[in-house]
Amino acid sequence: MPSVTGAAAATTSAIAPTGSPSPSPALAVPSESESPAPSLRPASSYPLVNSCNPASVPSAIAVTTPASGADSSIALHVPILMYHRIVPIALAGDSLRGLVVPPETFAAQLDALAGAGWRTITMATLANDLQARRRPPARTFVITIDDGWDDGYTYALPILQKHGFVATYFVIAGRIDLPSFLSSAHLQALVAAGDEIGDHTMDHVSLPSQKPPQLTYEIDAAAARIAQVTGRWPESLAYPSGGVDNEVVAAVAACQELRVAVIEERLVTEKPETTGKPGASQSPGTVATAAPEVSETWTDRFVVPRLRVSPTTMPANLVAELDRYATG
Ligand SMILES: [Zn+2]
Repeated sequence: MPSVTGAAAATTSAIAPTGSPSPSPALAVPSESESPAPSLRPASSYPLVNSCNPASVPSAIAVTTPASGADSSIALHVPILMYHRIVPIALAGDSLRGLVVPPETFAAQLDALAGAGWRTITMATLANDLQARRRPPARTFVITIDDGWDDGYTYALPILQKHGFVATYFVIAGRIDLPSFLSSAHLQALVAAGDEIGDHTMDHVSLPSQKPPQLTYEIDAAAARIAQVTGRWPESLAYPSGGVDNEVVAAVAACQELRVAVIEERLVTEKPETTGKPGASQSPGTVATAAPEVSETWTDRFVVPRLRVSPTTMPANLVAELDRYATG
């Protein structure tokens, strides 16, 4: 079960983005007809839909894909940053400190990147670019925020908006509307602000240990729940705790709406002795312990690596790290 920190009550007062949808009558059953806009009924009140067939949630907008380009081997080098919590340490409860980036640190990191000319796209846009074999502009990067904590709305969103940035939020579908996690209203406001809501499974379990029916539930039912709540099918997935194998990749690929998936750590360049304990093996001021290979191809789109950003990542070092991949 998620740990509930009590941070929600302390942090939800701050910001009401202009994109926030006005609440519809409480607990109204969504009309099946005209509008794709979802109501604000609790996520848990929706029926379980164990399918990625967009017809199974007709109220949600299905994913549209571009025409495929000719060269399937084209590699893009768009850095994908991985964050978890953007919240003051004092409000972070028992979250691992390596996953907690204070808002002022997040703002300083984004200030530096914006100042160096970096601009964001979402994972969905990156998937489009990969499929169309289209190179995004130089100095394009992706911000991902995992696990669906409500500080992604209260703290991260206003900082993103100040910079004109968007992010992909990987939410745990089974925790939507729980205390300290993003609510249905939060998710709808994020979508309205141009952010993407991605699939981070139903229960945040390690996928390689799951039997096929449970795999489908964790991946597909979570995608459908996000579609029910936000009115949009997710296009991207993040594997919990970086756990992935060939069966898991096949299960994700079988969800027709999911077009790209990211791992939590770089897959190839991590040393074996690196246990993956967040923050455990990083020296201050570094993004990563080894020279990363930031690369995405359509062929390998379900094992896309990310760069973990820690609370001690100095903004200048982050810029230097990303500038290694700047082209043009
Ligand atoms: Zn996670």
